[in-house]
Amino acid sequence: MSGVGSTEPSGGAGLAGAGAGGTVEILDELEAGELSIEFEGAEPQELLGWALERFAPRLALSTAFQAGDVVLIDMVHELDGQARVFSVDTGRLPAETHELIEELRRRYPGLQLDLLAPDAGQLQRMVGTHGPNLFHQSVERRLLCCNVRKVQPLTKHLASLDAWFTGLRRDQWASRSDIRKIEIDHDHGAIVKLNPLAEWTEEECWDYVREHDLPTHGLYAKGYTSIGCAPCTRAIAPGEDTRAGRWWWETGAPKECGIHCAVETGGLEHELHAILGEDADA
Ligand code: SF4
Repeated sequence: MSGVGSTEPSGGAGLAGAGAGGTVEILDELEAGELSIEFEGAEPQELLGWALERFAPRLALSTAFQAGDVVLIDMVHELDGQARVFSVDTGRLPAETHELIEELRRRYPGLQLDLLAPDAGQLQRMVGTHGPNLFHQSVERRLLCCNVRKVQPLTKHLASLDAWFTGLRRDQWASRSDIRKIEIDHDHGAIVKLNPLAEWTEEECWDYVREHDLPTHGLYAKGYTSIGCAPCTRAIAPGEDTRAGRWWWETGAPKECGIHCAVETGGLEHELHAILGEDADA
């Protein structure tokens, strides 16, 4: 783990981003790869602490209020009471998500939680054209909805950051099995993406939740294991994969919305362009 604590890792770093304190160094691929190896086996707090020191204030934690996300909120708040946290309020979240948000705001006074909203014009065009429940019409329409309600607001927000934390873990889904703790996020302007819980299992997250008596999403008690928008998430049956309750009516489609990995969207681009309007050219 030598070098992990250093804020000046070796390797040729590119220059990008301009925060209040001036120009901020962003990692290059080589440096990110080397650091990722160094942080293997380290506790999540070590990576969180290193990143806060190196990237704050142009660093924020992305949360979807899963158990692992609450673990990260607790850890990051312990390290820095001013740390920035954000989530996308798609407009279709279950009531239990908002109840958890209120509980977290009470538990962590001063928590800087930004709730991002989809663009009103894009929403209006999408719903006006395809209806509010377009996600049932086809995989492409589901991805269109995820793009407008989630990916677009997130992408806009990430443009103001140099680095972001996520609660992704390797045990969640095949598409996440090889994530590194530190990555260059080429889908979002080559900023730095940090996955402090990459090595953790679901059980380790729940152990931490119990040990620290953290609040959790109300739908876990009803058999849900991965929680997103209300119409696109259901409880799972015994023996099913933990993400089986997401977009359960689809077959052969990735259980992803496009936030964490590019999703094949054949046939969607033209429609997306029409709905995004001027933002499509941004
Ligand atoms: S999860 Fe469902 S409702 Fe939410 S953005 Fe995606 S398709 Fe739309």
